Amino acid sequence: MSSGRVVVVTGGNRGIGRAIAERFVAQGAKVAVTARSGEGPAGTLTVRADVTDAKSVDLAFAEIERELGPIEVVVANAGITKDTLLLRMSEEDFDSVVATNLGGAFRVVKRASKGMLKARWGRVILISSVVGLYGSAGQINYASSKSGLVGFARSLTRELGSRGITANVVAPGFIETDMTAALPDETQAEYKRNIPAGRFATADEVAGVVSWIASDDAAYISGAVIPVDGGLGMGH
Ligand code: NDP
Repeated sequence: MSSGRVVVVTGGNRGIGRAIAERFVAQGAKVAVTARSGEGPAGTLTVRADVTDAKSVDLAFAEIERELGPIEVVVANAGITKDTLLLRMSEEDFDSVVATNLGGAFRVVKRASKGMLKARWGRVILISSVVGLYGSAGQINYASSKSGLVGFARSLTRELGSRGITANVVAPGFIETDMTAALPDETQAEYKRNIPAGRFATADEVAGVVSWIASDDAAYISGAVIPVDGGLGMGH
């Protein structure tokens, strides 16, 4: 349980981030979400931030600290896709995805870690994807950004592990959100045939795992990649 903890979820206005924020609110945490548009769920503080911009992240986190106190749990969830095959992928397609998914995690975790170091307690949770380690044709930019998060969490574990701070990666498979709704029906059906569970997950099934990683019960887990993928990537 994260009752009373100050939690920040990036991209908490919709999809997986919103479900994660709702779960922490239900547990009695003090929850802020960052959003470029829209609002977080009931009971959260919404602040504007673009994770590709360090200044914007700094201003948002300063506001959260003023309103809720020092940040104890950070969930780097904001992410984008720009899928296309390698030969058609532009520099911009590659750079923007890496700048958001991997660079965004760097900016928010760097900013949040200051307070965690002072408190000698913290939870860093990076939302990756099954695709990071499994690979996916047409997603070289996305898979690179998501596997980069693994090296990130493991290096952070070595840097900050002795200060009561854990850093873990949660790797969802296919989850029912705007991101997967955008896939053609036939593609969705084909994916489902390859998932041992035979279905996509709800965002809440990811939220349950994230909230557990933030709890005291998970204090001795760090540098781990935790799959929430219905068995799709097992063994990778
Ligand atoms: P959505 O597309 O539903 O939501 C993406 C979120 O990221 C939105 O809140 C969006 O804000 C935010 N975001 C995007 N770019 C930026 C930016 N530059 N600065 C700040 N916020 C930004 O995605 P999902 O909920 O599906 O995915 C959430 C995370 O989970 C992502 O990292 C994704 O890669 C990962 N994931 C998703 C899977 C799935 O099946 N859906 C599977 C595996 C991983 P805004 O609304 O303002 O655009």
